Amino acid sequence: MTTVLTPATPLTAADRCDRCNAQAYLRVVLLSGGELLFCAHHGRKFEPELKKIAAEIQDETEKLTAPANNESAEQ
Ligand SMILES: [Zn+2]
Repeated sequence: MTTVLTPATPLTAADRCDRCNAQAYLRVVLLSGGELLFCAHHGRKFEPELKKIAAEIQDETEKLTAPANNESAEQ
């Protein structure tokens, strides 16, 4: 199961992945109080580890798959 919370602050094009500098689609708020940003690729890659240390994971990767369709169907 993926932890998806209502975005408090939407990610923008100015938010960049900490690993590869691509546009970030996940914001991870750490239990320690820090914050990490990841692109969809690295968000998935590190998800199992992130879940151990995250207080909150803001996942906006749906923007990638449904850019202009609010009622997108699962594919
Ligand atoms: Zn990345």
